[in-house]
Amino acid sequence: MTGWLEGYTALITGGGSGIGAAVARRYVAEGASVVIMGRGKDRLDNVVATSADPSRMHAIEGDVRSVADLERTVSETVRIFGTLDVLVPNAGMWDFQRQLTKLTGTELSETFDELFSVNVKGYLLACHAAWPELVKSRGSIVMTLSNASLYVNGGGPIYTASKHACLGLMRELAYELAPKVRVNGVACGGMNTDLRGPATLDLDGRSIATSFANKSSESPRPPLPLWDSSTDPTDFTGSYVLLASREQAGPITGHAISVDGGMGVRGF
Ligand code: NAD
Repeated sequence: MTGWLEGYTALITGGGSGIGAAVARRYVAEGASVVIMGRGKDRLDNVVATSADPSRMHAIEGDVRSVADLERTVSETVRIFGTLDVLVPNAGMWDFQRQLTKLTGTELSETFDELFSVNVKGYLLACHAAWPELVKSRGSIVMTLSNASLYVNGGGPIYTASKHACLGLMRELAYELAPKVRVNGVACGGMNTDLRGPATLDLDGRSIATSFANKSSESPRPPLPLWDSSTDPTDFTGSYVLLASREQAGPITGHAISVDGGMGVRGF
């Protein structure tokens, strides 16, 4: 059976773990070649080594806050695989729902700078580095968004503001890059990953999976259960395939698909 992304090349930031790694594996299964870029060479290499076809995956260590790292990654992608059809801006961090009233002014200021530099500037810079190649290939951008792009309480004010900013970025670029490049997003609900927090709050050693494990049974849940032990990032990858495919999603741009177990039904 032919995959939906046969002959495509994708670049995924933060592809060394979690949803980025799951999308990378799924894209390869759909026939694409994939470059994963992010922190931690060993982690990235492990995703390549465990891929169904390591010859169609390549890892590049880099920081999404660095223009030079992103520009080098885009040119390496094109040098190795010949084209760039899909960019998935995905690298991010969480704020562990730290509330405004629980932070000092200095903590708020420093955490904002650290988190926005990855979650928002990292997306913006990746799109900037990739757009000329995406114009050439008539490609697309598929951003990892969040339930926090649409609803409250998926993070604290800093994370929620960052994910709302990414929704705005997705819409603005859909307008600006049309008609040559489509820009969409996947608004993922909670899943057990290694998503870390800001070093400024000493949360860079903690992962979101521990927070889900601590959630009480009283916490509001979406109609379809998420963030239980069976929820795997792989379950979220289908929409990334759909939106990347020219054949399946040619007329779709500026749209966020919610993959969140139906949170909107009850207005989270
Ligand atoms: P994850 O920690 O497994 O993945 C994030 C990746 O980004 C990691 O590999 C990390 O090393 C990388 N990264 C962080 N800072 C970076 C930097 N400066 N430069 C390069 N790489 C960097 O967690 P995840 O849950 O897979 O997160 C991926 C995306 O999904 C994030 O944007 C997150 O906000 C979003 N998201 C996660 C959830 C969830 O519940 N886990 C829900 C909705 C959205």
